[in-house]
Amino acid sequence: MLNTIEKFDSSVMQTYGRFPLVMDNGRGVEATDENGKKYIDLGSGIGTNSLGYCDEKWADAVCAQVRAVQHTSNYYYTKIQADFADMLCKTAGFSRVFFGNSGAEANECAIKLARKYSFDKYGKGRHTIITLVNSFHGRTIATLSATGQDVFHNYFFPFLEGFVHVTANDIDDLKAKLDDTVCAVMIEYVQGEGGVNALDQDFVDAVFDMCAEKDVLVIADEVQTGIGRTGKFLAGEWFDHKADIVTLAKGLAGGVPIGACLASEKYADVLTKGTHGSTFGGNPIACAGGKAVLERVVSEGFLDNVLAKSEYIKKELEKIDEVESISGLGLMIGITLKTKNAAEVVKEALDRGLLLLTAKDKVRLLPPLTIEMDDLRNGLRILKQILEE
Ligand SMILES: *Cc1c(COP(=O)(O)O)cnc(C)c1O
Repeated sequence: MLNTIEKFDSSVMQTYGRFPLVMDNGRGVEATDENGKKYIDLGSGIGTNSLGYCDEKWADAVCAQVRAVQHTSNYYYTKIQADFADMLCKTAGFSRVFFGNSGAEANECAIKLARKYSFDKYGKGRHTIITLVNSFHGRTIATLSATGQDVFHNYFFPFLEGFVHVTANDIDDLKAKLDDTVCAVMIEYVQGEGGVNALDQDFVDAVFDMCAEKDVLVIADEVQTGIGRTGKFLAGEWFDHKADIVTLAKGLAGGVPIGACLASEKYADVLTKGTHGSTFGGNPIACAGGKAVLERVVSEGFLDNVLAKSEYIKKELEKIDEVESISGLGLMIGITLKTKNAAEVVKEALDRGLLLLTAKDKVRLLPPLTIEMDDLRNGLRILKQILEE
């Protein structure tokens, strides 16, 4: 008989390099594999299990929704989508939201919205979207085209036209490329997959100034940085800017598939009946998960707690000789090592019961926002041991 991994590999397309770990269950920060081995998970499913594994209130809300109504087409209304959308828009300070099922879909919506706004007002030819070198915006053809990394621009030709890449933090490059064909500039305030690199304040200021001047939309891809990940509700708050469009996904519903594209008042009515849709978008289960996450993230002291834990992690990491530098904001942390290879550190950590991520050549931490100090201490102790050997 085939074991799980053999069965999996013989039937699931091999698009991921996977670790030989079969996850069975989890509670809080702790994951348990099928052999009963326990792991402290500082990756939280790439920042998706924002409240950890199977948070009690979140699970109750999701299960109650499953037993009430699990899906209805978007030809009808649900109270849970209304409540969640209302709460999300008010908390984030936006007017309208469109729900999809992933980060890529949220970005697709943003791209369509920007192009339609420009088409409605200026006609054809003003369709270019500027994104940044080293960005990551998703795996669909449009979001791959948007992604500013050559490694993603292979095999699937032809890619979509109308995407131009500017070097992050290079204001002159931005100036040179922000011509009259541009309808939007899309940024990650902290590039996640690109290596946990925060943008410079000056550059972000320049993006917003130049875009405002030319009636060009600023799209903030907060798929990874949003919903408390950086210690602010949205990472844009660190830079004192509010984008025209914000996209969210990963941590938004605590591990249920969801994507959201938020539009400010000026762009609230750009996407009209029949111009966009998604069968599963705004699914009641996803909305119930999202509402449970939101309620927690906006609760008294929650974000302060995220920041306190971030400071603790940085302080502990700084004590480790092997650590060259630390990047990122809040509980989105990149660690550059002096001599060790990040992928090998992650592999070694797995053996010792610690789950970590990489981002380019860095070790990346995206712990659940609710991680307890004791668990954090234990996780960092294992990491320290590995780095000091
Ligand atoms: C993960 C990610 C995406 C893609 O999200 P999917 O849910 O995998 O489609 C897009 N943008 C950023 C910044 C991300 O981190």
